[in-house]
Amino acid sequence: MICPVCGVTVLVREARDLPYSYRNKSTSIAAVTGDFCPACGDALLDASESARVSAAMLAFKEQIDATN
Ligand SMILES: [Zn+2]
Repeated sequence: MICPVCGVTVLVREARDLPYSYRNKSTSIAAVTGDFCPACGDALLDASESARVSAAMLAFKEQIDATN
């Protein structure tokens, strides 16, 4: 599939750790499977994977908010 964001190149399906930062703290969400664009870095995730990433981001935010 051609990247819908930049339209430049073909997406690569793989699992990678997704970096995430919130209020100057950063973490990474391990082994996120999706279609990644080597040109612009955007990623298309499956619905289940997307839900897992959202939940992980939310948990990280709550953890930061709880300690600040
Ligand atoms: Zn792209």
